[in-house]
Amino acid sequence: MRATFPHMGNLYISIKAMLQYLGVDVVIPPPSSKKTLALGVKYSPEFACLPLKLNLGNFIEARELGADTIIMAGGCGPCRFGYYAQIEHAILKDLGYEMELIVLEPPERHASELMVKIRHISGSRSWWQVYQAVRFGFQKARTVDDLEMNVFYTRPRELTQGNADAAYQEALKLIDLASNPAELKESRSKAAMIMKRVAMDEKKPVLKVGVIGEIYTLLDPFSNQDIERRLGSLGVEVNRSIYLSEWINDHIFLGLAKGLRSKKEACSAAHPYLRHFVGGHGQETVGSAVNYARAGYDGLIQVFPFTCMPEIVAESILPVMSKDYSIPVLTLIMDEHTGEAGLMTRLEAFVDLLDRRKTVKEAL
Ligand code: SF4
Repeated sequence: MRATFPHMGNLYISIKAMLQYLGVDVVIPPPSSKKTLALGVKYSPEFACLPLKLNLGNFIEARELGADTIIMAGGCGPCRFGYYAQIEHAILKDLGYEMELIVLEPPERHASELMVKIRHISGSRSWWQVYQAVRFGFQKARTVDDLEMNVFYTRPRELTQGNADAAYQEALKLIDLASNPAELKESRSKAAMIMKRVAMDEKKPVLKVGVIGEIYTLLDPFSNQDIERRLGSLGVEVNRSIYLSEWINDHIFLGLAKGLRSKKEACSAAHPYLRHFVGGHGQETVGSAVNYARAGYDGLIQVFPFTCMPEIVAESILPVMSKDYSIPVLTLIMDEHTGEAGLMTRLEAFVDLLDRRKTVKEAL
């Protein structure tokens, strides 16, 4: 088996760690690029959401590097994610790419089916080794998330523009290279030291923005046109409503790891506006918006792919919540036609608005 999986930001670091720990031969698709997107757009239905198109492009590129098996998460609706993997597999087949598909369905509904699939991937490894591999992947996810939080704080305060990003990339590489928990521990300390070396003005007043929305576009800088980095360079400290380790904890470990925000918290904060699941992360988007407003954030940016049903539901609710809490919300919808200049203009205008509001508030 030469296994591949789709990109979603830094997800590859923890999935690769987990699979290699189990001795699986892994083929990482090249980082998502314009070529990946062009391939995905060419062969996907036009109405499909952006993640499907990028996933497909990733699989075609991984196939060209020798991958023969796709490992993907599954879902149970009500949005399209529930049949994503099957559609992508059928398209690949039509294109002549024969690849095995392994869909890992959510454990809360398909526990025994999931065990069979894990057994298939892990071969003769014991369940204890599987547990160790999953744990190692999770540890990497947490380490990467901490690093991302660190760079969100550092970017708007750095004294020389670009230093935080250079340090972040160096630290990320170290974490990626760690091949066992002991090495990861060492890399974690080295990564913290690297980030510490970035000279900052800690007293600089910065705006705080919560970035909320659909998980793929939140976690994947290619699909969101790197908005977190762009906001950082505009002097904004970003906080994201979902991190990979939080998703793993909620969906794989069923909330057992402590010290992480949970889906439950976000959903209960959404209650006055949205009381039920609408697919994807729609309910969490509304709840996280409420939580950021209560925490005194200056503004919110909702990001999602064009035609994403759960986020369209959330989008229709956010104006009411924005009025109740007096917090500005900008909605950015991403697809293959999203242009850099237009996005930058909107971000700059939004940041300018937040800055003026803050100045007026402080003068009162
Ligand atoms: S959550 Fe949105 S983007 Fe993701 S699969 Fe569902 S509809 Fe598509």
